[in-house]
Amino acid sequence: MTSPLRLALIAHDEKKADMVSFAIAHADFLAACDLVATGTTGRRVMDECPQLKVKCLKSGPLGGDQQIGALIAEKKIDAVIFFVDPLTPMPHDVDVKALMRLAIVYDIPLALNHATAEMLARRLSQP
Ligand code: PGA
Repeated sequence: MTSPLRLALIAHDEKKADMVSFAIAHADFLAACDLVATGTTGRRVMDECPQLKVKCLKSGPLGGDQQIGALIAEKKIDAVIFFVDPLTPMPHDVDVKALMRLAIVYDIPLALNHATAEMLARRLSQP
């Protein structure tokens, strides 16, 4: 048996509803993954998809993005789905950039919008 995909989920506030729709649409795929998320994203996903178990880290602005970045550096994350809000300035913009940089450094799949996340979920859920 192969080990479950270790997948990180993050969504900025304006994109959280989008993340919930994605989680509902891909609940079977996500249920087979080891899920970790920034705090508010993880709790929203679990509230609306109770069958999913998500390890919730700190909220993004309070260090959650940096925690996910550290997990990437420790090779404990296989892929990231990050629904970024491109229209709202964020106080933790530097943390978001650092996370993206580490995903590039460690060459892990990084979906930054819904369309790419769909492709990733379809690809990764293939046997
Ligand atoms: P949140 O963090 O899931 O705790 O809202 C996401 C972010 O803003 O980076």
